[in-house]
Amino acid sequence: MNEQHVGRRFETLAIHAGQEPDALTGAVVPPIHQVSTYKQDGVGGLRGGYEYSRSANPTRTALEENLAALEGGSRALAYASGLAAEDCLLRTVLRPGDHLVIPDDAYGGTFRLVAKVVERWGVAWSVADTSDPMSVRAAIRPETKLVWVETPSNPLLGITDIALIAEIAHTAGARLVVDNTFASPYLQQPLALGADVVAHSTTKYLGGHSDVVGGALVTSDQTLAEELAFHQNAMGAIAGPFDSWLVMRGIKTLAVRMDRHSANAARIAEMLAAHPKVADVRYPGLPSHPGHETAGKQMRDFGGMVSFRVAAGEEAAVAVCDRTEVFTLGESLGGVESLIEHPGRMTHASAAGSALEVPGDLVRLSVGIESADDLLADLRQALNSV
Ligand SMILES: *Cc1c(COP(=O)(O)O)cnc(C)c1O
Repeated sequence: MNEQHVGRRFETLAIHAGQEPDALTGAVVPPIHQVSTYKQDGVGGLRGGYEYSRSANPTRTALEENLAALEGGSRALAYASGLAAEDCLLRTVLRPGDHLVIPDDAYGGTFRLVAKVVERWGVAWSVADTSDPMSVRAAIRPETKLVWVETPSNPLLGITDIALIAEIAHTAGARLVVDNTFASPYLQQPLALGADVVAHSTTKYLGGHSDVVGGALVTSDQTLAEELAFHQNAMGAIAGPFDSWLVMRGIKTLAVRMDRHSANAARIAEMLAAHPKVADVRYPGLPSHPGHETAGKQMRDFGGMVSFRVAAGEEAAVAVCDRTEVFTLGESLGGVESLIEHPGRMTHASAAGSALEVPGDLVRLSVGIESADDLLADLRQALNSV
């Protein structure tokens, strides 16, 4: 990180880290370097280290420096999607014969990547309830190289104590990865709690406007960072210049967006908890949530994701998803607009029949930054209609 940023706070870093005004023109926003190759001053005479945009591109570098600063890491790498980032990490760290532990409520795509792709290359895996240290200890084997944690988790909003699981993983000689997509670095910084790598789908809160797909890895382990960079270049799933620029543009308002997402979600969770048509609300900000205390300890606020079970069952849950008018029925999350979805039939359909299957009566909300009153009224009318 640029020396002048040392000691600066999150909101300042979000806007300035990696984004010094353009040296040539003074443009206050990093230009989109929509370019594949760079003129060399004589063979091997690179200007600023750039030779080919798969290896490095100045717009992507600006995003990577920004992400490293926001997560408190020494290096970040930006990818074409969250799953491309995960794939790069798994293939960098694991060899045939190795083993990894994944959470029993992992994002469906993470589960699919591990169970349907990585496993074919001779990597074993097992599932643990990462909110329970005993369960993680029981899942670890002598060959375990990686423990994967998602907190809050998608879609059940489970909370894992990052510092505790880091200790367990490290005692076993394994690395801890935290998928920090739901919290964003504004609400939670896993590296400071002992994680070795942070994974992101920048598609979600970091991008924040449902207009880009991207991913990132952040670490403070320089050796691992070099290995990741080698694999990123060798495998090629990089973030393009325009996508990198869109994510950076989103990040500038991350702090104010997350404050509003969290405030709106807290009001919605309270309303749902008191609603007769709702059986169970999953929101770490509710004192009744089993992870409430841990979340309060490791998060600045509780975020914008809320899940709930509809008392009348699966068909009623599907009907609620069909009947909202401000909440848009759709996959993904983390944008300024509120989204509603049925995880069992949509985002998590790939986990059906596995240990990661989600309840059929579950509805997931990505609470946006519209008027909370409009959002509350919309959910009430949808619930009252079933
Ligand atoms: C969306 C998501 C991913 C995958 O990211 P893509 O950008 O869709 O590839 C990984 N983890 C979590 C928690 C997600 O929500």
